[in-house]
Amino acid sequence: MEQFNLILLFVFLFGISFGSFLNVLIYRIPEGLNIVTPPSACPKCNNRLKWYHNIPLFSWIFLRGKCAYCKEAIPLRYPLVEVANAAIWVALYLKLGTLWYLPFVALSFSMLLALSMIDLKYYAVPDSLNFAALIFALIQSNFLNHLIDALLAAFALWLLGFIVSKLAKKDTLGEADIIVAATMAALLGFPGFFIAMFLSALLALIPSLLAKDRMVPFVPFLALATLITYLNKELLLHLLEVLLYG
Ligand SMILES: [Zn+2]
Repeated sequence: MEQFNLILLFVFLFGISFGSFLNVLIYRIPEGLNIVTPPSACPKCNNRLKWYHNIPLFSWIFLRGKCAYCKEAIPLRYPLVEVANAAIWVALYLKLGTLWYLPFVALSFSMLLALSMIDLKYYAVPDSLNFAALIFALIQSNFLNHLIDALLAAFALWLLGFIVSKLAKKDTLGEADIIVAATMAALLGFPGFFIAMFLSALLALIPSLLAKDRMVPFVPFLALATLITYLNKELLLHLLEVLLYG
């Protein structure tokens, strides 16, 4: 039991640290900046951050959400991404019950988190992170089966998009959505993939109605639905069976 708690703490601390790196990816990749250099600096006053200004979550708390030099507010999304990433890793660890399969699954979901944050801001996602999510999802285990699932899902979605765009005479699904769908299938298999697609449409429904003519980023809903389905696959499958067969 004590050892279990220690592993949980370890997963959480690694989770917030990797979340901190995700913030770098989210901020720099869409701007076409190098993700390794230069070291982090305040975007307002350009002062380089000291190591103790850069501790995930804790620095934000002890600096009370402000730059140590110019007191410019540090957006809440920085600690939120760190905590969200740690929470996802802990939830995945509790689900899997072992560290053995955790790393690649966790990295794939982390990439989906970064893609979601970028989509919310830019209404587009970078291919590099999108393919990274897919590759991590494929190498998690049993590469060949997952590859076939991913290819099937990508083809099915491409076909659906093609038919809908012919009927509606406008583009509906982007290439980016197809790559995300392949990642979803590699993580979930079938019929988990279909459950997650349905769930994402359900989750996106109310925001889409509220947004009226404005664009709604879809990747965050795909990512959230994938996480919910991954963590509750048995329950959702059971619900689906009840719905279909009574
Ligand atoms: Zn500053």
